[in-house]
Amino acid sequence: MSTSCIFCRIAAKEVPSGIVHEDAEVIAFRDLNPQAPTHLLVVPKRHVGNLDDARDGDARLLGALMLAAKTVAATAGLAGGYRVVCNCGQDGGQTVSHLHLHVLGGRPMSWPPG
Ligand code: AMP
Repeated sequence: MSTSCIFCRIAAKEVPSGIVHEDAEVIAFRDLNPQAPTHLLVVPKRHVGNLDDARDGDARLLGALMLAAKTVAATAGLAGGYRVVCNCGQDGGQTVSHLHLHVLGGRPMSWPPG
């Protein structure tokens, strides 16, 4: 855990958040600044900076994140579809340096993204 990382602190329950899902490896909570009627973040409990920092040994964790994204989307009632986004690095628009998936839904999504 990184004590300066906001998502580590949320995972450790040091900072309150709207938790919607939790298992041994993953936690999911509502985004503070939602960009869609449903906007959830799916985060590994262990600190991984971003997708570039993931290693072969993290394959199971990456799979767990994707499966958790599916689970929280279903629980949120996003039967009509949803979008999963992983921003990586500065040009990818990443602002929090702890790997996370955005799960966005509740409205039609446009493409290409900005
Ligand atoms: P990204 O820009 O892909 O790194 O996404 C970071 C996301 O984290 C943004 O959508 C923020 O609104 C969200 N965020 C930052 N701090 C918090 C927090 N304390 N609780 C919930 N969401 C947060």
